[in-house]
Amino acid sequence: MSYQPHPFSWAPAGGLRHASTDTRPRKGYPTGFVVATLCGYQLAAENTTLAWLWDKCPACNDKVHGRANTPTPHAVGAK
Ligand SMILES: [Zn+2]
Repeated sequence: MSYQPHPFSWAPAGGLRHASTDTRPRKGYPTGFVVATLCGYQLAAENTTLAWLWDKCPACNDKVHGRANTPTPHAVGAK
C-alpha cells in the first residue's frame, strides 16, 4: 500500500485556486472552510462552480510542481 494520491488538494479561495495539504473532505472543502495554502495563507475556501474557473495561484502552482524550494535531484552534480 505505497500508493499515495496527490498530497495536496486544490482549494478555490480569495479569487484564486490555491493548493493545500489539509485533509480534504470527499466532496471538497466546503465554502467557508479555512485551509492553509501552500503559498502561506489561511483562506476560507469557496466551493462553488464559479470558483473552480479561477486562475491557479502562481505560488501554489510552483510549490505543487516542486519548483519553489525542492531541488531537482538529477541536477546535483550534473554539470
Ligand atoms: Zn496560493
